[in-house]
Amino acid sequence: MLFSIEGLVLSKEKVGEIDLLVETLTPKGKVWAIAKGAQKSKRRFVNLLEDFNLLTLHLRRNFKGTLPILEKADLLFIPESLWEDLEKYVFFSYLGEVLSKVSFKGLEVEYFNFIKDWIKFLDKEPKITLWHKVFFEWQMLGFLGWSPQVEGCVKCGYQPKRIFYFSVRDGGVLCYRCKEENAFRLTLEQVEVLKIFSKMSKKPKFLKEPMKKNRLSSEVLMILNKISERFFQYFLVFDVISLKMVKETLGMEVVS
Ligand SMILES: [Zn+2]
Repeated sequence: MLFSIEGLVLSKEKVGEIDLLVETLTPKGKVWAIAKGAQKSKRRFVNLLEDFNLLTLHLRRNFKGTLPILEKADLLFIPESLWEDLEKYVFFSYLGEVLSKVSFKGLEVEYFNFIKDWIKFLDKEPKITLWHKVFFEWQMLGFLGWSPQVEGCVKCGYQPKRIFYFSVRDGGVLCYRCKEENAFRLTLEQVEVLKIFSKMSKKPKFLKEPMKKNRLSSEVLMILNKISERFFQYFLVFDVISLKMVKETLGMEVVS
């Protein structure tokens, strides 16, 4: 049975002497396929199987329980700038690692479209900044169902007026009464920004909206980064190896 589907290349590894195992993100979730002979003969897949290339995959499923064979692929999009800019390359390595390691059920089409738009958007961006990292992490937390709760105290539901705490372990804002040891203090302004962020559109072109409103100082951005990164570290069951390099490249302090 031959079928075709759009797919974004996430990774590939050698299988035996001649074949490649290709991991792709598609509107149906992750698809792993065998590209026969792709190690030896490059003709059929000339540079097609590079990471983050968007392809139409033509797959053949032979038997139930075996991986489909990638018969042919047509190129839809290459993020060219990724291969010319070190900061972008490092950032994409981070995206690739997270996308490859994370998996979930539901919202596959929405997730695929978001990632596809995001890659195209990043390709056009002149410079990668902390903004991009924070935006990506917050959106991923949303897809994974881990968005921090910012409307009222996680434990008691009370809506604090002036004094806010935040706990990664509890998954959101805490009031003064419910605060625990690991919670850190947030200002009203920071909580307002968190609310904007948690309702933000998944369209990357809206990335700059909160900035236009002049509501996000670099200090607030650092807070957002701290929260999304701690959520990642707390909920993900693996270490993100490329994170340290991203932070060094973006000129950020590496917080342990
Ligand atoms: Zn409370």
